[in-house]
Amino acid sequence: GRNSYRFFAPDMQESSARALTVSSGIRHALSHNELRLVYQPQLSLSSGRLVGAEALLRWQHPKLGAISPVEFIPLAELSGAIIPLGEWVICEALRQLAAWKARGLPLVKVAVNLSALQFVQPGLAATLAQWVAESGMPFGMLELELTEAVAMKNPAQATQTIEALSQQGFKLSIDDFGTGYSSLSYLKGFAVYKLKIDQSFVRDLEHDPDDQAIVKAIIQMAHSLGLITIAEGVETETQLNFLKAQGCDEVQGYHYSRPLEAQDFEAFMSARA
Ligand code: C2E
Ligand code: CA
Ligand code: CA
Repeated sequence: GRNSYRFFAPDMQESSARALTVSSGIRHALSHNELRLVYQPQLSLSSGRLVGAEALLRWQHPKLGAISPVEFIPLAELSGAIIPLGEWVICEALRQLAAWKARGLPLVKVAVNLSALQFVQPGLAATLAQWVAESGMPFGMLELELTEAVAMKNPAQATQTIEALSQQGFKLSIDDFGTGYSSLSYLKGFAVYKLKIDQSFVRDLEHDPDDQAIVKAIIQMAHSLGLITIAEGVETETQLNFLKAQGCDEVQGYHYSRPLEAQDFEAFMSARA
């Protein structure tokens, strides 16, 4: 009309409308119990025992149903809602650990994901330390996962923050390792104890000689630096055997278990810890 054409893709409007709904719903979700944590087992390859769990966020939206963290975490980063969200995750993981402890269950450490914005909050180490102290749990029970990309955004700053967290007694691991252009000279200086080998290298491990070479190299480098390794996204026996043969220390993935609801994880813990 009016001597002009306008192009309109319904898809475009749909996706931005959804992003808006999702983004603006996060704080509401926090105050209305729409969020929960699920726990994915992490096992030692040498002993076959359960050594920990990664806590992963789940959001059940009253109208939209289940929303993936892959969708809402980046939006929460943009809006700043990741700060209260991140606080909720850590305090909920600590609350769950304390509840398991009170019931005399054999505890394993729980790892939580630290987001980019969370990681650069001033006084992070002191804040986290206070939450742990309030929970009555020992510091070693809460592990922090920091992605390689976040750590390498400002590696000098990251070195200091990681050091402060480590001084407080937190164990740290580098998540999604191999995807974030690590500067090895900085990596050497990080007070972390574990590298998480990214799923993208594990996925085609059976068929792709490049992935085999990369995984092998990461494990060897980690061990030379005094770090342990965990492979994520392990789905098959063949992947498992390759990782075992290369001396990978731990695994996490559907082969052993999907992320579990708290009560299902309890059963897993009782059986394998
Ligand atoms: P991530 O930290 O790399 O978490 C691992 C993801 O891989 C999880 O997806 C997990 O369910 C999935 N996974 C585990 N084993 C397998 C497997 O064998 N095969 C396949 N295909 N996938 C597997 P999820 O739960 O959808 O989480 C996705 C991402 O969302 C996480 O990636 C993390 O970056 C983010 N996320 C989840 N929870 C939180 C949180 O509490 N805080 C922050 N900042 N980010 C979170
Ligand atoms: Ca993670
Ligand atoms: Ca990861």
